[in-house]
Amino acid sequence: MAVFVPRPAWGARAPNNRPTAITPGNGGTTVHHVGGTRTARADHGECAAQVRGIQRHHMDGNGWADIAYTYLVCVHGHVFEGRGPWVRTAANGTDAGNQNWYAVCALTGGSSSDYDPVTDQLLDAFRWSVANLRDIGGAGGGINRHSDHLPTSCPGRLSSYVLDGSMEPGAGPPAWPGVYFSHPPATEHPGVRLWQRRMRERGWSLGTDGRYDARSKEVCERFQARHGLMVDGVVGPKTWEIAFR
Ligand SMILES: [Zn+2]
Ligand SMILES: [Zn+2]
Repeated sequence: MAVFVPRPAWGARAPNNRPTAITPGNGGTTVHHVGGTRTARADHGECAAQVRGIQRHHMDGNGWADIAYTYLVCVHGHVFEGRGPWVRTAANGTDAGNQNWYAVCALTGGSSSDYDPVTDQLLDAFRWSVANLRDIGGAGGGINRHSDHLPTSCPGRLSSYVLDGSMEPGAGPPAWPGVYFSHPPATEHPGVRLWQRRMRERGWSLGTDGRYDARSKEVCERFQARHGLMVDGVVGPKTWEIAFR
């Protein structure tokens, strides 16, 4: 399963601004790769530095507000948080593309003669990203390629994986959003609302405002006790998965 890497964990700089007026329900998720010649790192320990370098290039070189992508995924199956859900991307190359589509970038290069490997973990990380952006980012059902927005060679060999459905998440519970819900202080995150709605469907009485308040924690603890989980009042991957089972 993909591993989520929040911004603090890869040493992200603060963005200069976060434009949020977007309509991702009209589009979906666009697939990119870094490009160039064999840019994937053999050692995952070097991937965070690679992401920092891309952010530096986008902010200091291009003068953009932040790293352009919504998420970045590596061949080891990790998902680095870029701009994240509900923030306009700068990666898709057209106004409509950035308005309606998120951008997920593989940390791989590839010219026609020299591609990085497309690992199962990389595809898994793409599927996680697509599912996550649909669940908590309001993304529409589309999955397309950078080259669907304008003429470019991006995303190289990943194009065929977009076209053959390899990036489409399977049926099943929504992907855990990668953030532990806890209280106090109350976690505020779009994923909290999704979990609250699910718990209401299961018959629990609680609000659905996206704030993991004292009542949410109490419901979580009772749910954990009932399902034989460790009772810590924190919604992590296991508690999330069982809630949606
Ligand atoms: Zn691209
Ligand atoms: Zn990696």
